[in-house]
Amino acid sequence: MDFLNDKSLFKDKSYIGGEWVGGAKTFEVKNPATGEVLASVPDFGAEETRGAIEAANAAFKGWAALTARERYLILRRWFELIMENQDDIARLMTAEMGKPLTESRGEVAYAASFVEFYAEEAKRVYGETIPSPKADARVVVIRQPIGVVGAITPWNFPAAMITRKVAPAFAAGCTAVCKPAEDTPLTALALAELAERAGFPKGVLNIVTGSAASAPAIGEELTTSPLVRAIGFTGSTEVGKLLMRQSASTVKKVALELGGNAPFIVFDDADLDAAVAGAMASKFRNAGQTCVCANRILVQDGIYDAFAERLASEVLKFKVGDGMEVGVNIGPLINEQAIEKVERHVADAVANGGEVVVGGHRHELGGNFYEPTVIRNVTTRMLVTNEETFGPVAPLFRFKEEDEAVAMANDTPFGLAAYFFSRDIGRCWRVAEGLEYGMVGVNEGILSGETVPFGGIKESGLGREGSHHGIEEFTELKYMLMGGL
Ligand code: ADP
Repeated sequence: MDFLNDKSLFKDKSYIGGEWVGGAKTFEVKNPATGEVLASVPDFGAEETRGAIEAANAAFKGWAALTARERYLILRRWFELIMENQDDIARLMTAEMGKPLTESRGEVAYAASFVEFYAEEAKRVYGETIPSPKADARVVVIRQPIGVVGAITPWNFPAAMITRKVAPAFAAGCTAVCKPAEDTPLTALALAELAERAGFPKGVLNIVTGSAASAPAIGEELTTSPLVRAIGFTGSTEVGKLLMRQSASTVKKVALELGGNAPFIVFDDADLDAAVAGAMASKFRNAGQTCVCANRILVQDGIYDAFAERLASEVLKFKVGDGMEVGVNIGPLINEQAIEKVERHVADAVANGGEVVVGGHRHELGGNFYEPTVIRNVTTRMLVTNEETFGPVAPLFRFKEEDEAVAMANDTPFGLAAYFFSRDIGRCWRVAEGLEYGMVGVNEGILSGETVPFGGIKESGLGREGSHHGIEEFTELKYMLMGGL
């Protein structure tokens, strides 16, 4: 951990009830760019998770009883500490998951923005009054914190997926037990260290680390414990469905951010420069490993060749390498299985008539590196159509009519993010309203932010994170009829 200015941000223990807790059984955290072992952290299971839930439950009443401004001050201090340590957390993140350092810095700021935003929102958990149906009564509606929250997060945004869940939960007065992805526990633990410094009372934030093999046991404890009242999950649709089924046993509220299969449509009348820039940002951020990354690029006949040529020439400018190196903008994929999936998708596209314009192979650096790739003549028969590739591969589909593009875009069980580029105002409204997605970028390739509701429809999930809607997931409405006046 020579790369940390503040070595105390490196933690290799879980954080439960305000204590750093080690265990006899551990698992290794590796750098995907180099294969180097960065740390061994506790491989906890159901029992430790139960302990963390009890700690969170014990802290709940006291935390909920603070005034909104008292919670604001602690959250605000956490935000400041995260930003003061932006470079260290970014380096830790790049080391454990591979994204280029500039993107890691960006993610730390993005993660912190949720803490800042929800610190402020703590003061705005408003209720309402409703005209009473009876002359001698009054109707008041208040919002109360839901209770202990379980959060299970993925490796592709090791900081932001945690803060996007726990910051609104804390603002509302809830406490939380988080299980970070097995690939990226170190970023989560650094955030916990800063939370401790910010003054969160013991038990408000708990981080339980566990290996891939222990994830089902931790998940089962979180979803079936009667003490946990809400589950926030970001990850695969398969695991999301399992958690939802398990949560049914105690009728928990669930907020799920699951897989996507984002279409990116370029119409003939698009601004070509803007469309290419949008596709580059949307497709290749985090080496294509985000659930809102363009997965299917649908290009209209008249602009297809020009777009393909421009995109390919931009892709050739990418520098692939260890995210710690200056100038690198495509890091490694997370692991060998991720590389194998990309290889399978590319091989299938080629076998069915796809034409590789650039890339198409493992990178000469070896390991988990894959060449940024553009493939033409992609059709709906190919694997890339139906599954998220989660890698740096841009498949270009061709279409003729607007209706055909919208129908292709909607022909998926997923509905997270969609993008399109057009300069026709009528088409912009028609297509934006016709796309069956929770988020639509119109002439924009990046659409996340703390002030907007992030989330999907269909099998991409339930609930929204970010914006004033995000805090509602962690509150319950209570209606009070005040009679006998
Ligand atoms: P990804 O494909 O992004 O790795 P996963 O859904 O496998 O998506 O992982 C997201 C998070 O869910 C990780 O923290 C992982 O450990 C966790 N997870 C995986 N399987 C389970 C499970 N059966 N129960 C609870 N959590 C799980």
